[in-house]
Amino acid sequence: MKVAIDGPAGSGKSTIAHELATRCGLVLLDTGAMYRTVTLACHERKVDVTDDEAVAKVAQEISITFGTADDGTQTVALDGRDVTAEIRTPAIDAEVSAVSAVPAVREAMVAQQRELGNAGDVVAEGRDIGTVVFPDAEVKVFLTANPEARAHRRALQRDIDDPKQEEAILADLKRRDKADSTRDVAPLCAADDAVHIDSSSMTIEEEVAQISALIDEARAAAVKPAVQEEPAAQTADEPKKTNKAKKGEDKPADPNEAFYEGAVREYGLGSRALLAASIGLCGLLSKTLWHWKFENGRTLWDAEGGQMVIMNHVSMIDPIVVVVSDWAHGRRMRVLYKSEFDKHKIVNWFFARIGAIPVKRGTADIKAVRRAQRALQRGEDVLVFPEGTRVYSDDQEVEIHGGFALIAQLAKAPVIPVAIVGARDGAPGGNKPLRPGFMWMRAGDPITFDELGVKGRKKQASAMEKVAMERVYALRDALRKEHPGKM
Ligand code: C5P
Repeated sequence: MKVAIDGPAGSGKSTIAHELATRCGLVLLDTGAMYRTVTLACHERKVDVTDDEAVAKVAQEISITFGTADDGTQTVALDGRDVTAEIRTPAIDAEVSAVSAVPAVREAMVAQQRELGNAGDVVAEGRDIGTVVFPDAEVKVFLTANPEARAHRRALQRDIDDPKQEEAILADLKRRDKADSTRDVAPLCAADDAVHIDSSSMTIEEEVAQISALIDEARAAAVKPAVQEEPAAQTADEPKKTNKAKKGEDKPADPNEAFYEGAVREYGLGSRALLAASIGLCGLLSKTLWHWKFENGRTLWDAEGGQMVIMNHVSMIDPIVVVVSDWAHGRRMRVLYKSEFDKHKIVNWFFARIGAIPVKRGTADIKAVRRAQRALQRGEDVLVFPEGTRVYSDDQEVEIHGGFALIAQLAKAPVIPVAIVGARDGAPGGNKPLRPGFMWMRAGDPITFDELGVKGRKKQASAMEKVAMERVYALRDALRKEHPGKM
């Protein structure tokens, strides 16, 4: 999904794009910050911004990277040095239009922007996103506002309340509008298919709501046709061409994409029937074989909105029993599983149709993070095994994968710790046969980020990783005490 927001300086693109990124699970790409960083580098190297060749050389030599500050806002680094504040000064405002008009500078920046954009779902803001950088963006918005409103916003943004300085800002905006719209290469203009929004008298909330609705519509349009395919019509060996593949892109889209991205309740009838049959069968067999009990499950089943469930992992039964009980209480759960399972085509085909989401372990699998985030935001539960793999014995070395905390944080969802005991005896793994017996599960109370008493996004995420896993193990130890000898 690509969302392009173009418009003149001070039209509110940055604020809106940041808000959309958080709410809709998109990566923010502030292209203006990139041109500003090139301008700063020229300034520092005493390069004359009217010397196209020298400016282009700077653009090709420097490295521009984005990061996230503790308060969740985006940071920009020039060759690794944080320059977020330095690029937003009147001195940079005065020269950035000249720098951004140099064709070789644009070429270098657009190449980087496409690379960043093609790595995942993005909301990119700038002047030429819908026309040049991502002409295939699913949502294009051209944001405008009258110059006075824009100048006032910029003054507020920079904490300026002197009318004279605001007038100077207005003059600079008008000058930049003119320069940006009349340059030869990639001038500021709306794409033919962009939706025009005049934000002069709109609140941020109104603008975000209007654009979010466009994003939801585009997502529904992209997902529905593929999800509604019956499973029998689509095999792993003969994937149907998705919309992307039809557009002639080099890399064929994943045939399961629509299942990973869509809501389980909106899958086609065939897939939903397959899921219901699998749940029914697994429920019946697992209950008969292991008489499992899920204590305190109400904390999950009665919760409002999507919940992030984390659990210790001792056997292949663990996900089955949790998903079955969630489903039996009218909820839908997405299980995150290691992508190594996808080597088996049948498993890959089946897991997609029961709503599971693959994760590439040991990498920052942003795609999986975003898919899980969106599932939570839609109200689906997400099940993660932070231990990453089945733990066959207590001596096995375990590395906790903390991605669940990040996903929950992005989706603003609570984390529910769950422990299971007895499943290792019931399904010992390897070639050992299943053994009938008993198993118990217990859920802890939901943990919210607010109750952790830590400030800053990164610190909150690592506190959540620690606290939530400690609670899982405390629940497990309590169950083991109550059922001696059960693992
Ligand atoms: O959006 P912002 O005001 O930070 O952009 C600074 C400048 O960068 C603009 O005035 C414009 O000259 C340039 N720019 C551009 N193309 C973009 C984004 C910004 O030329 N896509």
